[in-house]
Amino acid sequence: MAHVVIIGGGFAGVWSAAGAALARGDADLRITLIAPNDHLVLRPRLYEPDPDSAKVELRRILGPIGVEHVRASVRTIDTGRRVVVADGRELGYDRLVLAAGSELVRPEGLPGAERLFDIDTLEGARRLERRLRGSDGYSAVVVGAGFVGLEAATALAARGRVLLVDRSDVVGHELGPGPRAEIEAALDELGIERRLGSTVTEVGDGYAVLSGGAKVAADVVVWAGGLRAGGLTRQISDDLDHLGRVPVDRWLRALPEVFAAGDVAAAAYDAEHPVMQACQHATPLGKVAGYNAAADLLGVPPREFTPGPYVTCLDLGGAGAIFTRGWNRRVMASGAEGTAVKKLINQAIHPPVDDAEKILAAADAVYLDLPFFPRDNDEVQGEDEAVTAA
Ligand SMILES: Cc1cc2nc3c(=O)[nH]c(=O)nc-3n(C[C@H](O)[C@H](O)[C@H](O)COP(=O)(O)OP(=O)(O)OC[C@H]3O[C@@H](n4cnc5c(N)ncnc54)[C@H](O)[C@@H]3O)c2cc1C
Repeated sequence: MAHVVIIGGGFAGVWSAAGAALARGDADLRITLIAPNDHLVLRPRLYEPDPDSAKVELRRILGPIGVEHVRASVRTIDTGRRVVVADGRELGYDRLVLAAGSELVRPEGLPGAERLFDIDTLEGARRLERRLRGSDGYSAVVVGAGFVGLEAATALAARGRVLLVDRSDVVGHELGPGPRAEIEAALDELGIERRLGSTVTEVGDGYAVLSGGAKVAADVVVWAGGLRAGGLTRQISDDLDHLGRVPVDRWLRALPEVFAAGDVAAAAYDAEHPVMQACQHATPLGKVAGYNAAADLLGVPPREFTPGPYVTCLDLGGAGAIFTRGWNRRVMASGAEGTAVKKLINQAIHPPVDDAEKILAAADAVYLDLPFFPRDNDEVQGEDEAVTAA
């Protein structure tokens, strides 16, 4: 029987599995997902105080749709022999979906690096939570004022003093100027100090040293230095982008028998923008890549990756959240209204469980259907163009 193998049990891998099961229908096709974890980790929620609530058992998604789960890590992809090696065991494939996600970019050679905390993985978020449990009034340094660092810093400010450090001269550098005033106002409201144009050069017991030599109190230093695709991408392509991602065509094919989805895939969002390393894109990428991997074997027409309007929602803790749309990230909701949007998004990214019909219907739907999400790409693009022209 033909075999689709998926590497990764995050958003992209799980939705690839559901996409492949959708394309399979009643046909004979074996689908296997390889991942070391028993849970889908809802990484966008790992800044929350109870990280263990941000997980969903894989068996409750994969079981009902007839997808086998092999608990292992893939070390080798042999595209010539169409085999992957996972914890010493070889598995053959007819079509492969690489969905092995991303990892935090860690500092090289930083003295005290072993003391750093992060919220990149469930284990990382648990470790931070254990360290801070019952210790209100702590001093925290968060390194990286991007999306993850801002969510970490504003969440930590609920119970302690926070210093936010970034090499860039502005907060939210990658988010652009659109939401910056709201972000700065939120940081001011929460009393979060900033050291911009700076970084941490040493971490010790209860302190961190900043570039320039200043020593600051730090019960914890949380590293949020950005994400990069995992190393398996190098086994698929020599032509990776700056985030280590594999180039794919609009059917998400990287090689004749290999598709890629999620944080490993450098898919085009439109003529100007690649997709983001975001679950907002990992989910539809997975649905399409898995569908196409199975469709290719079954002679079913493939689906094109046609992303919905680009939005972001950044949680700013006690200062609310901001919801933006378009690549200029125009703020559409902030404060308590933004928090309400974030809550709905965080519920919506939880996949249906225990019910094959609902899981397959969600795989077919490709985009999140939320009341405040724009429906029309042209409308959002029109707004983007108006902002650029102004
Ligand atoms: C704190 C935080 C906040 C975020 N907030 C948002 C947000 O608000 N909105 C948003 O859209 N995105 C957000 N993101 C980004 C989002 O979480 C990622 O883009 C998304 O998780 C990518 O999904 P993925 O399936 O590609 O990869 P991952 O979630 O990284 O999953 C990868 C999977 O592959 C497995 N794997 C890795 N290597 C191997 C291997 N060698 N063999 C087998 N399996 C392997 C892993 O165990 C895991 O199961 C956030 C991320 C973080 C860390």
